[in-house]
Amino acid sequence: MVTQKYKDMLQKKSVIRTLSEFATKRGQEIGYENVFDYSLGNPSVPVVQDYTDNTIRLLQTKTSSELHGYSPSVGLPSFKEKVAASLNKRFDMNYTANHIFPTSGAAGALAHALRAVTSPGDDVLTFAPYFPEYNCYVGMTGANLRVVPANTADFQVDFEQFEKMLTSNVSAVLINTPNNPSGAVYSAETLKKLAQLMEDKQKEYGHDIFIISDEPYREIVFDGKKAPYVSKFYDNTLSCYSFSKSLSLPGERIGYVAVNPTCTDADLLVPMMSQISRGIGHNCPSSLIMMGVEDVLDETSDMTVYETNMNLLYDKLIELGFSCVRPSGTFYIFPKALEEDAVAFCNKALKYDLVLVPSDSFGCPGYFRMAYCIDTEKVVRSLDALERFVKTEYP
Ligand code: PLP
Repeated sequence: MVTQKYKDMLQKKSVIRTLSEFATKRGQEIGYENVFDYSLGNPSVPVVQDYTDNTIRLLQTKTSSELHGYSPSVGLPSFKEKVAASLNKRFDMNYTANHIFPTSGAAGALAHALRAVTSPGDDVLTFAPYFPEYNCYVGMTGANLRVVPANTADFQVDFEQFEKMLTSNVSAVLINTPNNPSGAVYSAETLKKLAQLMEDKQKEYGHDIFIISDEPYREIVFDGKKAPYVSKFYDNTLSCYSFSKSLSLPGERIGYVAVNPTCTDADLLVPMMSQISRGIGHNCPSSLIMMGVEDVLDETSDMTVYETNMNLLYDKLIELGFSCVRPSGTFYIFPKALEEDAVAFCNKALKYDLVLVPSDSFGCPGYFRMAYCIDTEKVVRSLDALERFVKTEYP
């Protein structure tokens, strides 16, 4: 018999993927350039040129087994050393290669980090609005995902609710800053308060509570600012990073977990993760991709387009009367829908070929998400459609 659990999941397909498939189909009818597809977080800017040049050089100079052989189960030493050095320089940390575990993207990093510090039956807290895949990432470890309600004033943390939910059954708190879908970046003040509360609770309960920090958007911050580095604020932090967005490399599936050297069992966690890989099969990321990335760690694609798009959309949404917290980073914006039922709102938008994602699956009903990792020219054309939609449906 096939496994019922996964059969049941087919009925709960990702809303984002379903909308993206709709957009592709609609594109076949009217031309994809006429579909204002704000569904999927697929980077629109090209990969860093140095990455491509590096990869070509590697293909021409390295041996077949260096390029295509299995990588070591704890990761390629040169990649690990260079990631540690880069993080130390940028964020004043003390990582060594032994604290870096290469993974298949942020999803792979989260799969390992969650299993390394939680057991089935534990609670993992996250904050709404949250990336819907967290239900699978956490659910499939046997732990329970518990969602702290959103602080819709600014999408920082609702500390009153958080404290109530931070019971002795919680072994990890999964945070995502800069945040998908709100675009909020946790301030240093938020992170200090979060860390203090968690330290107090660790003492009270007599056990560790880890922060699992999901950071694929760490480099996409607006107004010339930088996202505070979460691990700087709290010892028991596992940083889960991905090059999917910063280098526009989502298809290559490359990222890492960085274990804070001052966390509990810091020297054991990476070897433990290599044991976890044996079970979940996300093992030994491609050597070629690790070598391709290791010399461009401090580069990013040209991501200025995201800030340009954000400003265009934010100004138009405000002009049209939407309530919206201005994003501080990422390539998402998360306005309040113009009716309580965000699904109905987004369905009406489809008539104008605007593909918007209702917020129900982000744990914060009544909002919608726009992923504006698309060409600016298309964003500009979509503003007219947005205006027609609002003026016709919500006069
Ligand atoms: N976490 C968040 C918040 C994301 O938005 C994504 C992808 O969009 C991921 C994790 C997964 O990233 P990756 O593609 O690197 O596995």
